[in-house]
Amino acid sequence: MLASFPTSTYKPPMPTFDFDFFVIGGGSGGVRAARMAGQRGLRVAMAESGALGGTCVNVGCIPKKLYSYAAHFAEAFEESHGFGWQGEAPTLDWPQLKAHRAKEITRLNGIYQQLLTGAGVHLLTGHAQLVDAHTVQVNGTRFTAQHILVATGGTPSVPPVPGGDLVVTSNAMFDLDPFPQRLVVVGGGYIACEFASIFNGLGAQVTLLHRGEQVLSGFDQDVRPFIAAEMRKAGVDLRLPGEVARIERTHGGLQVSLNNGDTLPADTVLYATGRVPNTHGLGLEAAGVKLNAKGAIEVDAHYQTSVPSIHAIGDVTARVQLTPVALGEGMALVDHLFGPAAGKPARRMAYDLIPTAVFTHPNIGTVGDTEAQAREKYGKLRIYRTDFKPLKHTLSGSPERTLMKLVVDDASDRVVGLHMVGADAGEIVQGFAVAMKAGATKAVFDSTIGIHPTMAEEFVTMREPVRPAD
Ligand code: FAD
Ligand code: NDP
Repeated sequence: MLASFPTSTYKPPMPTFDFDFFVIGGGSGGVRAARMAGQRGLRVAMAESGALGGTCVNVGCIPKKLYSYAAHFAEAFEESHGFGWQGEAPTLDWPQLKAHRAKEITRLNGIYQQLLTGAGVHLLTGHAQLVDAHTVQVNGTRFTAQHILVATGGTPSVPPVPGGDLVVTSNAMFDLDPFPQRLVVVGGGYIACEFASIFNGLGAQVTLLHRGEQVLSGFDQDVRPFIAAEMRKAGVDLRLPGEVARIERTHGGLQVSLNNGDTLPADTVLYATGRVPNTHGLGLEAAGVKLNAKGAIEVDAHYQTSVPSIHAIGDVTARVQLTPVALGEGMALVDHLFGPAAGKPARRMAYDLIPTAVFTHPNIGTVGDTEAQAREKYGKLRIYRTDFKPLKHTLSGSPERTLMKLVVDDASDRVVGLHMVGADAGEIVQGFAVAMKAGATKAVFDSTIGIHPTMAEEFVTMREPVRPAD
């Protein structure tokens, strides 16, 4: 007699997977998610096709900031004379700067590896491809996993232009050989403005060409012309609008021809015209993962793609392309999939009030709404703004000025936007972001005692709006 199983109680055996969690991409988001999951005792694997740490560590935030520090010395040497220091400024040894940077990045790659292996993560080197909802292939070997995370980041995008094969992207800027004495930068976003400032500081003659009337679209209306003026004072030739017709090789290097007929000689032409998600060759179609109109992986509020077992975070979803956001998303996802760490609440990523800095010279720091965004959301606003010569520059001789601006919702008195252009703006704005997350009103700012003499104290001493509430 055949055994019969009542269908209502029959449970098929649980499918067994090689891993609980398979992470594709060892950048900011992927490393954090893999490490957090590994620390929970889960069986975790990670595949990385390049160097651990991804864009931020290898060709982004970290080497960029190191070069920004290097570039700031140029103005420090210059300004020191006003404080009585005598003597010629030292010259830059570019190969030495590159070598020191490379050594530090290698050290960081090693730390990432230790952190991952220390958390029990099984590391695979190679390009990973999805085969189906639970299978990933790396170097010809297939691995199954209950959950798969795609954290493959983004890559620079260069629009078609005659001579486009002669240009470089930010990836190549850290190791240029020789140092570019004449640099043309195309674009007006974060990367274009940062690299223009940095290479100007390092001693290059820099021209920035941006297709728009003003750099840094999306930033506050007072910040944009202010930083443009500061960059010009520092020596960057900003051409706004400036559009490239073609790039050609000449005897002396390269020549950039503009639509208006101007020509510019250059040693290096950097295109910093945005980044696109790394979705190519990932097998997304085979697995059924949908992309949105921007070509980015579409995810829901919990980073789930159109395939329930596959999630995506960070730049490959092309939302907010910042390292702390990729890290926050990685941690929120691990808590959502596997539960929070013992004794801790589940983390959620909040997308309001994300502070950000642009490491131009001087820096931009910003958190919350621009004046235009706030106007749409709240209607009646009070705008507080100050623009001054910092104390340091009374002796340094530098013409650099600092801008600070508060955008206040008149009805609630809440500070909904805070913007700064000035030295260390990123460092200063980080603290104010905490106050704004806590809902600080202008009255709270006013009741806060300043630290004297600093630039930051201006944020708590602006009493009269520059524009009455309207
Ligand atoms: P990534 O860090 O890009 O990591 C993705 C990883 O996936 C890479 O290592 C890649 O090799 C790997 N990969 C891709 N495809 C595969 C595959 N099929 N198989 C295996 N591995 C794969 N953000 C800031 O917050 N502050 C800054 O100052 C800042 N400066 C920047 C400067 C520059 C020049 C650039 C380009 C970016 C900067 N960013 C900055 C942005 C920041 O670097 C990114 O937002 C962040 O790195 C995104 O992390 P991620 O994990 O999504 O992707
Ligand atoms: P952005 O989106 O910031 O800027 C792209 C720039 O290129 C814009 O000025 C855009 O002009 C211009 N552009 C786009 N397409 C074309 C085209 N076809 N021809 C000419 N110009 C064009 O991108 P980035 O590449 O600078 O940086 C990518 C992201 O990386 C940033 O958005 C940021 O999230 C992150 N990042 C963060 C940093 C930080 O935190 N400090 C530093 C560096 C990068 P338009 O404005 O007219 O569209």
